[in-house]
Amino acid sequence: MVDVLIVGAGPAGWALAWCCTESGLHTAVLAPAPTGGWPATYGGWFDEFGHLPASAFAARPPATTVITRTEQRVPRDYVVLDNDGLGRWLRHPSVRTITGTAEEVTVGNNGATVRLTDGQRIAAAVVVDASGVRRALSGGPPRGAHTEQTAVGVRVPAGAVGGLADPEVATLMDWRPAPGALGASGQAASFCYRVPVGHGQMLIEETSLARRPGLPHEVLRERLHARLAAAGLADLAPHREERVRVPLDLTPRRTGEVLAFGVAAGLVHPATGYSLASSLRLAQPVATAIAEALPRSPAAAVRAAQRTIWSSSAFAVHGLRRYGLRSLRRMPPESLNAFFEAFFAQPAGTQRAYLSVRDDVAGTTAAMRAVFHASPPSVRRHLLRASVP
Ligand SMILES: Cc1cc2nc3c(=O)[nH]c(=O)nc-3n(C[C@H](O)[C@H](O)[C@H](O)COP(=O)(O)OP(=O)(O)OC[C@H]3O[C@@H](n4cnc5c(N)ncnc54)[C@H](O)[C@@H]3O)c2cc1C
Repeated sequence: MVDVLIVGAGPAGWALAWCCTESGLHTAVLAPAPTGGWPATYGGWFDEFGHLPASAFAARPPATTVITRTEQRVPRDYVVLDNDGLGRWLRHPSVRTITGTAEEVTVGNNGATVRLTDGQRIAAAVVVDASGVRRALSGGPPRGAHTEQTAVGVRVPAGAVGGLADPEVATLMDWRPAPGALGASGQAASFCYRVPVGHGQMLIEETSLARRPGLPHEVLRERLHARLAAAGLADLAPHREERVRVPLDLTPRRTGEVLAFGVAAGLVHPATGYSLASSLRLAQPVATAIAEALPRSPAAAVRAAQRTIWSSSAFAVHGLRRYGLRSLRRMPPESLNAFFEAFFAQPAGTQRAYLSVRDDVAGTTAAMRAVFHASPPSVRRHLLRASVP
């Protein structure tokens, strides 16, 4: 029997496994490929990832911009992670790895037993569901229509992108419409995300920020290829495609006999789709909460960890961010430009308060108020309408 069994070998699962082991807990990670690579390109703000070693970063571009009606310099550094470097750092050699797929969990007074699809059973004091959006042991994936961020991207040689992008600059959003593609695909807005990803490559990705249901990948692919073709880069399009589909309205998992962590816990920022930085930063306090409460009982350890993840202030901030999501989802394309122009004109601290600090209610509210006041009346009307369910 292990102290902590973590179901899922994504970055959240491994970050928690590392911290649990360092906290003296006998820890195991269970997944179909427990030491397999992570194919997605992970990015975020450098100030959220400052505790990671240099080997965990693939690129830290010297400038970050957004393009709305104008091009604005963003006063925070954006980074792209090196998944292999991050994985090497997080995969603690003392963590036991188990290859398999969890199917069911039974929880008793002294711990839990997880049954795998091959019939194997594994006993643990605390079971953690870190299976991402599948939520394999904590209620399953979201059902019905939900709000999603979708994207289609390609990695291309940085030296070839001169017609489309500065290979040294991370452009988080270029809201200029893709040439010719809008007419055929309706008016749902999307933007182009372009970031250097290291190894002499850039990721060019057409992204739909928030839509219910998500904008289909075919539409985004059409727009991406239109941008590449207009810049004389049509030949680059067949490169390996990256597809993103991130549910933005996952219900936070605050209770239950199984501890959810990472995307499974609902740690996704409703307005950006990002979760990685929160998972990496929460791993240590969650591991500490488990280690301190486990001598009382497994149930006490799960509750202590749930309170650490979803403090009342974190839950309140999540509610404010959900309000932001509703505003964005309902905003017509012509207002999105003005909204983001107002947002990215704010000082770094205000931007950070909304995008990165998950338990500062006053800071989040102040940031929302600042953007509201900096927005033109048409945008303010949309922001207010979001208060109507
Ligand atoms: C292409 C793409 C790009 C993204 N970019 C970013 C980004 O830049 N920044 C960001 O913050 N987020 C990004 N995301 C969101 C991303 O999903 C999460 O940030 C991150 O992968 C979540 O980590 P996680 O460990 O919670 O879950 P996941 O990475 O989804 O890991 C889930 C793990 O659970 C395992 N598993 C599933 N079911 C079972 C089961 N029944 N039994 C055992 N194991 C199981 C899986 O095999 C996997 O190992 C992106 C997503 C995609 C798809």
